[in-house]
Amino acid sequence: MRPAEELLVELGVSDPRDIDLPAIALCVGAEVQYRRLIGCEAQIIGFRDRAIIYVDERVKNPRRKFSTGHELGHWHHHRGQSFVCRSDDIGKPTDPNSKNAERQADAYSGDLILPPFMIEPRLSPLGDISLEGILTLSQQFSASLTATAIRIMRMTRQPLILISQDLAGKRWQWPSIGVGTLKVRADIDLRSSATVSLAGSNKIGPSRKESASYWFDRRHIEQFDVRVQSVRTSEGEALTLLRVLDPRMIDTYG
Ligand SMILES: [Zn+2]
Repeated sequence: MRPAEELLVELGVSDPRDIDLPAIALCVGAEVQYRRLIGCEAQIIGFRDRAIIYVDERVKNPRRKFSTGHELGHWHHHRGQSFVCRSDDIGKPTDPNSKNAERQADAYSGDLILPPFMIEPRLSPLGDISLEGILTLSQQFSASLTATAIRIMRMTRQPLILISQDLAGKRWQWPSIGVGTLKVRADIDLRSSATVSLAGSNKIGPSRKESASYWFDRRHIEQFDVRVQSVRTSEGEALTLLRVLDPRMIDTYG
C-alpha cells in the first residue's frame, strides 16, 4: 500500500464518502482553510509538526479537493517545509514514482482521493470499462473524470488507451498494461469520434467502432477496428477511451 492509503486505513476510512480531507488533515496536524489567494492556488505553511494549508476559495470541486490533497502530499513527503503551489504545479498526469516534489504531492493526492484499495473491488463489477462506468466511479469518489480514468488505466488489464486531445492533436495518452507499447497518432483525425466530441456538448458520446487507422499511423493497420468513446471535458479537451478489439493488433504493433 502507498502512504496515503496507509493513512486512510489507519484512520478507519473505508468508504469513499468518508474521504473528508479537512478532517483527515486535522488528524495529521494540519488545518485547512479556504480563502482568497493571490498568485497561487494553494499553499502550506509548515513548522515542526503543525501546518496550515490554504486553498483558493475560488477553486471549485473536484479540483479543490485535489489541491487540498496535493498540500497534504507535501506535508507527508516534505514535512516541516512550506510550499507555494501555482495551478501549473498541481494536477499533472504523472509518473507516481517521480522524485519531483510537485509530482510526489500529486501522486499522494491521487492516492488519497482515489485509493487503489477502494477502487480495486469496484473494477470487476464494471465489466467492460466504458466512460459511463468511469463517470459513476468519479461521482462516488468526488474526483474528476480524467483523474478517475487515469487511475483505472493504471489498474486494469483490459486493452485500453485513454487519450486527451484538443484540436491541435494529442496532448497525452495513458495506456493500460494490456496494450503493450501501442501509441496513438500525434494528430487528430477529423473522422474520429474525438473530433465530434470537441465540436459538441459535454455529454458522453456513443461507443463506436472505427477503423484503427483513424487512431494509429502504422502500415496496414486499417485491417483492424477499435471501439472508441469520447467526451468533451470541462477543460475543453476531448477525452477518449479506446479499446483494442483484436489481440492480434497488439501482437503485431504493440
Ligand atoms: Zn505543490
